[in-house]
Amino acid sequence: MKAGAGQSVQRLSVLGATGSIGQSTLDLVGRHPDRFEVVALTANGDVKGLAELAIRHRAKMAVVADPEGYQDLAKALSGTGIVVAAGGDALVEAASQPADCVVASIVGAAGLVPTLAAVRQGRRVALANKECLVAAGELFMREVSAADTELLPVDSEHSAAFQAIGASAARDIEAITLTASGGPFRNWDHERLKAAKPEQALRHPNWSMGAKITIDSATMMNKGLELIEALHLFPVTISQLDCVVHPQSIVHCLVSYRDGSVLAQMASPDMRTPIALALSWPERIDTPTKRLDLAELGQLTFERPDDRRFPAIRLAREAMAAGGAAPAVLNAANEVAVMAFLENRIGFLDIPAVVSDCLDAASSGALCRAVDHIDEILAVDLAARELARSMLEKRGVA
Ligand code: NAD
Ligand code: MG
Repeated sequence: MKAGAGQSVQRLSVLGATGSIGQSTLDLVGRHPDRFEVVALTANGDVKGLAELAIRHRAKMAVVADPEGYQDLAKALSGTGIVVAAGGDALVEAASQPADCVVASIVGAAGLVPTLAAVRQGRRVALANKECLVAAGELFMREVSAADTELLPVDSEHSAAFQAIGASAARDIEAITLTASGGPFRNWDHERLKAAKPEQALRHPNWSMGAKITIDSATMMNKGLELIEALHLFPVTISQLDCVVHPQSIVHCLVSYRDGSVLAQMASPDMRTPIALALSWPERIDTPTKRLDLAELGQLTFERPDDRRFPAIRLAREAMAAGGAAPAVLNAANEVAVMAFLENRIGFLDIPAVVSDCLDAASSGALCRAVDHIDEILAVDLAARELARSMLEKRGVA
């Protein structure tokens, strides 16, 4: 960070700037104009949204992943001096620009390559993109160590764990328990779940998020992905990871210690709090997050996840235990199934069913092999997407 007037100015790039996390990040940037300077912003195809953000935050570079968006972006930003580029290589270039912190908030495995590019620069990465840790956890963390990168979790549960662990020794940690809201279908029976529509699944009770993670919350695959994410971020084994349903989303994670002590982090459900910490750690900065009033809330409740209605956590645990490329298969199959559900091509309960079919097929084939290079993960990701599409066809889905 370079020195500013009495305070350091942090140069920030945001991958996935037009999304929910990207916009929450830029909301914080707008509230702290003396603290942040925007370097590169990226989006998938929303050229108009990207151009607006780039102008508002005086970005130095704007990149659209879809090559067809180049002309429109160049037109929208002509005369501004903002460097414009498009395509996959340009995403990597954006991620590699000199910056103090890169916010990795692209959704899905598409975020893996650009996020790794940021890691390789050795700069702080504020990681929202959980899919890259799910798909490539071990290899990703190896790169983080090799580059001596500071990896700060943005996911609220992992930010909470990070805070509750502090400087504690690994040997003192007994368990990490992630909380899950239970999503919009927490109390729905099997028949209702079978008929659930995307617009119902998209109505999350507590959080406002992008479409993919909102569906993941409804199936509870989000918690499964987060267990895998936690395995890579924290010094624990699979058996030390657990989750509990907590419909109010106030307690975000609990860390249990060998002496019987449990440390939890609480906050109103607003992603600006964990994003702010990832940007400012070890300091803290102001956010507009609604302050907690426990007396007003009255009660916080907890219950066990129902594995019968929501099998996704079990599937994620199985993939985590299998290791190798199995989590990459889980992730890719889930991305394909979620997209098919959002497009009304499959039912809600078909999402975990397709993932399960893919894991079964992959484990009996060569797909769930050990992997020791990122290119192998990318190949598995592609193959698992193909497999998932063939599973959809088997179900008669066009
Ligand atoms: P979103 O859908 O709102 O935004 C995704 C961003 O990624 C957009 O800017 C989009 O343009 C970009 N993008 C999408 N596909 C792309 C591709 N193929 N190539 C390049 N860019 C692409 O998603 P979100 O809710 O902001 O979530 C982003 C990530 O953060 C996800 O991995 C999600 O699991 C994680 N996360 C989100 C929240 C939340 O509250 N939204 C909380 C925790 C973790
Ligand atoms: Mg989360």
